[in-house]
Amino acid sequence: MRLSEQPVAIVGAGPSGALLAILLQRRGMRVTLYEKRGDPRDAHSESGRSINLALADRGLQALAHAGVLDEISADLMPMRGRLIHHLDGTTALQPYGQRPHEINHSVSRHRLNQVLLDVAARQPGIRIYFEHRLQGVDFQQGMAQFQDIRHGRLHDVAMRPMLACDGAGSMLRRCMSTAGFIYVQENDLAHGYKELSIPAGVNGEYRMAADALHIWPRGGYMLIALPNTDGSFTATLFLPKHGAHSFESLTDPAAVNQFFSETFADVRALMPNCVAEFCGRATGFLGTVYANPWHYRGMAALIGDAAHAIVPFHGQGMNCCFEDCVEFDASAARHSSWESLFAEFESSRKPNTDAIAAMALENYQEMSELVAHPDFQLQQALALELERRHPQRFIPRYSMVMFHHEIPYQIARQRGTVQSQILTDLTIHATQLGDIDFGRAAREIESKLTPLA
Ligand code: FAD
Repeated sequence: MRLSEQPVAIVGAGPSGALLAILLQRRGMRVTLYEKRGDPRDAHSESGRSINLALADRGLQALAHAGVLDEISADLMPMRGRLIHHLDGTTALQPYGQRPHEINHSVSRHRLNQVLLDVAARQPGIRIYFEHRLQGVDFQQGMAQFQDIRHGRLHDVAMRPMLACDGAGSMLRRCMSTAGFIYVQENDLAHGYKELSIPAGVNGEYRMAADALHIWPRGGYMLIALPNTDGSFTATLFLPKHGAHSFESLTDPAAVNQFFSETFADVRALMPNCVAEFCGRATGFLGTVYANPWHYRGMAALIGDAAHAIVPFHGQGMNCCFEDCVEFDASAARHSSWESLFAEFESSRKPNTDAIAAMALENYQEMSELVAHPDFQLQQALALELERRHPQRFIPRYSMVMFHHEIPYQIARQRGTVQSQILTDLTIHATQLGDIDFGRAAREIESKLTPLA
């Protein structure tokens, strides 16, 4: 039987699972999705994380490829740059790019998931079982055990194959690792996060610029806020788990109030519930997952966060997962066995997911600290100027990652390292663009950066 005619089970109907199901069924496969939560399209369902996410070029391309983009486009909020809120209350917009399309979009994860599941549920080749939790696997028998939460029943599902799209804490990955089939490293970050809300004004108006990602960089920690379509913003506070200003030390509501009033003075008045939210909401954990290999025989494979969860500081986690889905689907056209498909997918994809994992970690310092620094701002301005002068060879690393899906993450990282050195060398004695030796810049770029295809 050809791969395209075979049944596939997917664990997890989050962004990766839902998009992958749509793509694989289009190839002719019969797909069954198992999701432990209730249907997010039900009004009373538990929504999971309420975060909004930055959707960039890679994610948009994948949604367009799957024919879903039109259905979600009304829910996208364009963000054209980072709006930096300094401690003294002044603000500065740092545009993401320099062409009209070089923007990111804020989208509700919940809404995106609803749309993807709506599209998936309309396809005749896809069945979705909500409230079905994977709880164990018998690899010898090739069977996975699910709990039907609503009816309290257990039932077995054949793994022929089973694709793990069950997120950073993947149960299927844990089973593969416990059985000794894969090696897994989970690196927890020393920082956690909490979601906070910035409600709309009384007439539903935005109380800050709606077309930007807001950042309050404060050194070892930061607050960010992304716009929602209803006039509100969802803010996320990233803070160390331990130490002076940390989730561990900030437990008393009065101290929390003082912390917000002193550190985020300009936005404190727009966050009437921040103390209650800070004290009442669970702290989210962040980390990077490395797994090796990503698959076991032709029986099970990891995709999306289950294979390579990353920290959120480049806004690429879901974008990267969507790119996984497109590449996995494209590989499916070239293979006649699951085992060879899984092996090729991993060998072509892992260098790129390792690269974005590293860049996401590097970006924390950029967002929480460097964005407020004049040296960094000069390098940013110079990077955009060099892109204008040498568009075939020099594209700022951020732009390569966010706006150029045709440049693999691994290449973006390699070129970014070379470019960073060029920027450092050129700005070492400069305080403004007028001080830059552009003749030297041209020579450096010509000799160190090959033209991009
Ligand atoms: P998940 O979204 O985790 O979905 C997994 C699904 O599997 C869930 O529906 C879950 O209920 C289900 N599941 C889990 N276990 C089981 C089980 N045992 N049985 C059945 N079902 C199960 N990415 C971006 O691109 N841009 C951003 O701006 C961005 N910001 C972020 C901010 C924060 C604070 C965080 C934490 C993440 C952010 N991300 C961002 C990353 C993004 O959320 C993830 O990369 C993306 O959600 C991964 O999708 P996934 O489908 O692989 O996993």
